[in-house]
Amino acid sequence: MFRKMRKALILFSLLLTSCNSTKQNWIDRDLHEGLYRLEYSDSFETYSTSKEPSNLRNTINNLEQAKTYFDNVFNEDLNFAVLFIENENWNKYAFTPPPGMPQAYLEGNIVLGLEKSIIAKRAENQLHQFPESELNQLRKHFGNKIDLDLFYRDALAIHELGHLYQFYKIQGKSQRKWLDEFFGALCQVAAAKNLEQSSTFDQMDSYQKLLVKEDKWGDLPFKSLEQFENNYFEIMKTGQNYGWYQIQFYFKAKELYSKYGDNILKSFMEFLIETNPRTVGKINNEELNQLMMKAFDKEVLDTLEWKHDS
Ligand SMILES: [Zn+2]
Repeated sequence: MFRKMRKALILFSLLLTSCNSTKQNWIDRDLHEGLYRLEYSDSFETYSTSKEPSNLRNTINNLEQAKTYFDNVFNEDLNFAVLFIENENWNKYAFTPPPGMPQAYLEGNIVLGLEKSIIAKRAENQLHQFPESELNQLRKHFGNKIDLDLFYRDALAIHELGHLYQFYKIQGKSQRKWLDEFFGALCQVAAAKNLEQSSTFDQMDSYQKLLVKEDKWGDLPFKSLEQFENNYFEIMKTGQNYGWYQIQFYFKAKELYSKYGDNILKSFMEFLIETNPRTVGKINNEELNQLMMKAFDKEVLDTLEWKHDS
């Protein structure tokens, strides 16, 4: 018994030491190999496949303001790096296609597109199927050419930054993929609402409203949270279905943020910390449900429509 306890104690203190050193140098710098170091921000590190890219001001501006906001809400001063990668070399630095789809690594790096992203290009090619009156609404927020990188890069970069705060606080992912993604959406809404200009929020909101209104998804194979967990990689591959889920998370996050403000971000982060799989192990749906009922108002759970049935 005693030996077991001693072993556990040694393990525990090893874990603490390794956590501390991970936290200090948590940015994975191997990923920066072959990139130019840019000095584009005083708030975080910037790298690129291009020596002096010129179209990054809005993205960096969003991330700087979002960092200030998240640092304040989560009581942190997060170090991180943002990598701007050209489409041609995307797969060398990012972990998933298509080129330009924003992503966050577990260890301190965000990868964003440098030029017109494939994901925005594809979405722009779909715009012709929407009525002219709706497109005119979008033009108000995205400019005459409807540049969807303003959504797919400049707005979603904030979502990815939200993931980094979570990865940092709990050294990885949470109990469920849908919790990770819902938290990302919550961070995206909250930080966008707190930017000096409302343009990024207006862009993400108007574009996603249009997608919901026009409802061009067709028959989607997966729609429940349970399927999101079990078929995650399949869903990721069919961008359409993944986009549908993200929009559901977005509108629920928007509703909760408008009701609870910054407190919902704080309590969600606390919940992720308390249920960190690294400390409590993987818990089943029933236990998770219990813990959620303890941590949140019924209204929050109703909004999330937390259920496991397909
Ligand atoms: Zn995400």
